[in-house]
Amino acid sequence: MISAPSSLSIWARNISPSPTLAVDAKAKALQAAGEDVCSFAAGEPDFDTPEHIKDASIAALKAGKTKYSPTPGIEPLRQAIVERYAAEYGLKAVPAQVIVSPGGKFNCYLGILATCSPGDEVIIPAPFWVSYPEMVKLSGATPKFVLCDDRAGFKLTPTQLAAAITPKTKLLILNSPSNPTGAVYTRAELAALVDVAVKHNLYILSDEMYEHLVYDGAQPTCIATLSPEAEARSIIIAGFSKTYAMTGWRIGTTLAPLPIAKAITELQSQMTSNVTTFTQYGALAALKEKEKTKAALVPMLAAFDRRRKNLHAELNKIPGVSCLLAQGAFYLFPNISSFGLKDVDFCSRLLDTEKVAAVPGSAFGAEGYLRLSYATSDEIIAKGVTRLARFCASLRK
Ligand SMILES: *Cc1c(COP(=O)(O)O)cnc(C)c1O
Repeated sequence: MISAPSSLSIWARNISPSPTLAVDAKAKALQAAGEDVCSFAAGEPDFDTPEHIKDASIAALKAGKTKYSPTPGIEPLRQAIVERYAAEYGLKAVPAQVIVSPGGKFNCYLGILATCSPGDEVIIPAPFWVSYPEMVKLSGATPKFVLCDDRAGFKLTPTQLAAAITPKTKLLILNSPSNPTGAVYTRAELAALVDVAVKHNLYILSDEMYEHLVYDGAQPTCIATLSPEAEARSIIIAGFSKTYAMTGWRIGTTLAPLPIAKAITELQSQMTSNVTTFTQYGALAALKEKEKTKAALVPMLAAFDRRRKNLHAELNKIPGVSCLLAQGAFYLFPNISSFGLKDVDFCSRLLDTEKVAAVPGSAFGAEGYLRLSYATSDEIIAKGVTRLARFCASLRK
């Protein structure tokens, strides 16, 4: 008999697999089996990375940029990130505050690891991005959820925040524009939340991954610009994946006060070291070759905006469905609670009968909704909504 230890760690036993990646994988498997699937499950832009970004990375690879780089990133890239925060938000920072990590997801995890210990509590407004609770658990801390439903525009209020704080609360996680709801907080709304966080001496992890994907004239806010007190406690996460259609490159960024940045760099130095060196030159080109980047991004943003409006209008025509017109990211989060079906069952029957893939709201901590990504073609959106409408009609019979 072969014997081996039989109990995996509490970390391994407590982790839940990503439900969004699971729905996406099931949709792709059906597609591969020849089914005509309309997928609203994607968590990434359907565009390719702009050519000049690829070219810069290829040139760096050919020029031998194939060795380790400094753990927090190549100096010109960190400098360019500082310059873009200055240009976009008027924020004064230094390259030592910047850490480039293998994907914004890892930037989030390191930010949590640098600030949270076992016994601490972390406030996460729901609906939330699926990875936050798991990352908090992996730090040994405890996630505390506060539900913010569609009547509240999916936004946390200062009163709700104050009520959720205990002596153990260490960190508040904010994500605007939001995945999964697309909600964008105004500067005033964020300032009111930061006031509460400052009063209770919390750290803030602000995931600003979708800052450049905003519509209807909505403005993203960089939390660190709200006040010196905000800046002193905020870990700002951003990256290249969503803005520049670079999800597979795995490059994210953190901007944090110096002591936190130093801690994050040390954690990263023992876990992954630097982001793949030649890809960092592609990221540098995205920031430096501004005209080319802008020319590539304008049509992407226009396409997202058009699809957003179309999908929103079509969803609200379906009896029993109601959907807010979100102003950011590439998701809508319609309410389907009127059908009296658990959202998980709604989604699995929708996929089985109509071959439409959507992620249930409960995956994001909010039962009774669907997350629909419009990072897919106009044709798939049109066909998918027609099928969704037929499915909803069948439930009302
Ligand atoms: C996609 C995403 C990230 C991380 O993106 P990476 O692909 O890891 O760079 C972080 N936060 C949110 C809310 C996201 O949707």
